[in-house]
Amino acid sequence: MPFRTIAGHSRLLPLLSRVIARDSMPPAVLLAGPAGVGKRLTAMAIAQAINCQQPRSSPEFERDACGECAPCRRIARGVHPDVIVVEPGDSGSIMIDQLRDVIDRSQYRPFEGRRRVVIIDEADAAGPPAQSALLKTLEEPPSASVFILVSSIPDALLPTVLSRCPRLRFGPLTPAEVARVLMQEHGYSEGDARAAAADADGSIGRALESQSEDLTDARDTAQRILQETARSDDPVRRINLARDLTEGKGTPAEERNRLAVRLRSLGSLLRDVGIIASRAERGMIANADLQSQLEKLSASYDADRTLRAYAAVDRALTALDRNASPKVVADWLLLEL
Ligand SMILES: [Zn+2]
Repeated sequence: MPFRTIAGHSRLLPLLSRVIARDSMPPAVLLAGPAGVGKRLTAMAIAQAINCQQPRSSPEFERDACGECAPCRRIARGVHPDVIVVEPGDSGSIMIDQLRDVIDRSQYRPFEGRRRVVIIDEADAAGPPAQSALLKTLEEPPSASVFILVSSIPDALLPTVLSRCPRLRFGPLTPAEVARVLMQEHGYSEGDARAAAADADGSIGRALESQSEDLTDARDTAQRILQETARSDDPVRRINLARDLTEGKGTPAEERNRLAVRLRSLGSLLRDVGIIASRAERGMIANADLQSQLEKLSASYDADRTLRAYAAVDRALTALDRNASPKVVADWLLLEL
């Protein structure tokens, strides 16, 4: 997984590549940011870029791994002797013994690589005693080793650990970046990818966890509701439409969850209509495959109405969170759109 194959982070990744090319990688860094945006992949890309035998150079990446030589392939398979990944075990925690083991190993020269790379994934899963065990090594790092801490909850790390590791901040990916990865690497159709990306908060991990059929159905329902409400404000038709929002069978928990997914879809479409109505940057549109339909909607949903509708969807989601009945929430919302 060389840098060039990782989605997004268009400033951070070239910067890391340049630092590695100039041999000025600090002995310890923290990759911090939301889950599922590519932090661990980046840690592996760093390990490869450092230890690749045929590194490549491009205008974007001063030093990037080839991805094909023996060290690159061994790192990708997790069997390179100088690239050690520590992660939580079955207990959900990183145990002090796991860290003591890598600390011991990091004292020796690398077996075959240029530098040993120790990746501590979900570093926040190490309790304070385990983090303290690591601290001394971070204070006086062995010259031939690099420690890469990865965390989506960096505030759970000890301040003393944080102060030893320069923090590289990963932001969420754009919906377009998430959708592209879902299509290219996970075989999603464009509609499914866009629907999943629009509901994923910029996280590929989150998009993959959700059920794409449910999301596609939710987006179809949300789109139909907006088209109908744009056309007519007849209250009887609106109450009928509210049934579309709650339609489906299941346990009460499943019903609530299904409505929440449809509401988030409605919110995502309204956000896009707002972007079109305000003539903002079109690249920000999450549901880009529906752009022409959204443009038609923006004739009835001007900036003010869109904003009010978006706020109403937000209130509906809050009410649902607080245990309001799905039917009451749906009826109320349809009269507000
Ligand atoms: Zn290589």
